[in-house]
Amino acid sequence: MLNEGRFDLLARAPLLKRMLQARAFQPALMLATLAVFTLAILTGLAGTPAGSRNFGIIFVWIVWWALLIVVLVPFFGRFWCTVCPVPAPGEWLQRRAIVQRGPARPWTRGLRWSRRLKNMWLQNLGFLGVAVFSTIILTRPNVSALVLLGFLLAGVVLSALYKNRVFCRYVCPVGGFIGLYSLLSPVELRVADPDVCADHKTKDCITGNEAGYGCPWMVFPGNLTRNVYCGLCFECLKTCPKNNIVLNLRPFGSDLMVAKERRLDEAYKAFIMLGCALLYSVVLLGPWGWLKGWANMESLPHWGLYALGFVAFNLALLPGFFWLAVWGARRMTPARQPMRRLFVDYAYTLIPLGLAAWIAFSVGFVLVNGSYALSVLSDPFGWGWNLFGTADAAWTPLGATLIPFLQVGILTAGLLLALNTAYKIARQHHAHHRPAFLAALPVSGFALITTLGFLRLYLG
Ligand code: SF4
Ligand code: SF4
Repeated sequence: MLNEGRFDLLARAPLLKRMLQARAFQPALMLATLAVFTLAILTGLAGTPAGSRNFGIIFVWIVWWALLIVVLVPFFGRFWCTVCPVPAPGEWLQRRAIVQRGPARPWTRGLRWSRRLKNMWLQNLGFLGVAVFSTIILTRPNVSALVLLGFLLAGVVLSALYKNRVFCRYVCPVGGFIGLYSLLSPVELRVADPDVCADHKTKDCITGNEAGYGCPWMVFPGNLTRNVYCGLCFECLKTCPKNNIVLNLRPFGSDLMVAKERRLDEAYKAFIMLGCALLYSVVLLGPWGWLKGWANMESLPHWGLYALGFVAFNLALLPGFFWLAVWGARRMTPARQPMRRLFVDYAYTLIPLGLAAWIAFSVGFVLVNGSYALSVLSDPFGWGWNLFGTADAAWTPLGATLIPFLQVGILTAGLLLALNTAYKIARQHHAHHRPAFLAALPVSGFALITTLGFLRLYLG
C-alpha cells in the first residue's frame, strides 16, 4: 500500500506478517539475546580483567554498540527493543508465561507510576550517570557485568511492582536514546486507518485478547504519530481484530516534523546525546592525555572535577549556547511562539546531528577494535580456551585510511539533514521563506560549528 510516501511492508510480505504475528517470534529472539547477555555477565564476573580479552567488554561495548548505533537504530528504529534481553525475565515473570498468553491476572503489585515520572528525565539522568562512569564501565569487565546485572534486576523489580514495561518506557537509559533517534528511522508501526480505531469499541490493542496482551508500552496505536514510545513488540499486530496495523517504510526523518508532541525532556535527550558524543571524542581522540587520566579515575578529586564538568556541559553549557542561538533567531525574525517553545522545537535539529556524530565515532571505534571479537569468541573468559580456533587471532585494525573519509561523509550527511530540519521547523513558525530562512541561520550556525568541532577531533 502506498500512502503519503509510505509503503506497507506487511501487505507486500505476508510471510513477514505471519512471522511477526507468531507468539514465539519475540521470545525466541529474546532467549537468544538473553543467552549472549548472560555470557557477557558471567565472563565479566569470572573472566580475565583484561578488557580486550574479555567477551563481556568486546561483545557488549564494541560489537553490540556498533550494531545498535550504526545499523539498527538508523535503519530499523526500535527493533533492538523487540529482541532486547533486559526486560525478558521481568516480563515473563509478570506474565507467568513466555510464549503463549499467560493467565489474566499478571504477577505484579500493579502500583501506579508517578505522573511526574511519565517522561524521559529518568532516562536522561540514567544515561548521564552511565556516561560519567563510562571509561570505567567500558574497560573493567567486572564493573561492566555489575551494570548489566543491575539493568536486569531493575527490569525484574519494576515488573514485580508495576504493570507492563515501566522499565523500558521510563527508566532504561538505552531505550531513551533509541526512542529519540528512531524518529529518523525509515520504518514505522502505525494504524492503516485511524477512523477504524475511533469506531472500534473494544480496543483490543489496549485491553488485550486471547491472541495477545494489551500494549506493554502503554501506547494506543490509534494515536501513534511518532516512533519514540512504540517498542515494536508487535502485540497489537496480534491482537487487532480489524487488521488495522501496518508496518510502513517511509522517508528518513519523517517524525522530526511532528510538531505537536515535541517536549523539553526529549530536547534534553538530544543535548545529552550530542554532548556525550562530543565529550567522548574529546577525551578519547583529543591530544589531552591528562583528561583521559581524569576520566579514568586515576585520582578521585580529578575524576570529581571531570564528572562535574561533564554534567555541567551536558545540562547547562551546551543547552545554554543553543538557547543563545535560538534567542538570536527570535531577534532576527520575531516569532509568535514563546522562547521555550522555540528552544524545544529547534532542539530537534540536533537529532540527526547527534546520531551522525555517534555513528562516525562508532565506525572508527569498531573498525579499529572489532578484530578483538574473533579471539574472545574462541576464548570468552580469557582462560586459554580455543573453541573455534580463533583464540590467537591478532588485533588487526581495519580501514585505517578509509575511516576519515567515512567519518567526513557521515558527519556531512548529518549536518545536511540538520540544516534541512532547522529550515523546515522554521517554516512551521513562519509562513514565508525569507523569515524562515533567517530564523534557521543561527541554529544552522550552531550545527555547523559543532560539526567542524567533530571533524577537527576526528581528522586531527
Ligand atoms: S484493536 Fe485495532 S482497530 Fe481497534 S483500536 Fe486497536 S489498532 Fe485500532
Ligand atoms: S504500539 Fe503495538 S508494537 Fe508498539 S509497543 Fe504497543 S503493542 Fe507493541
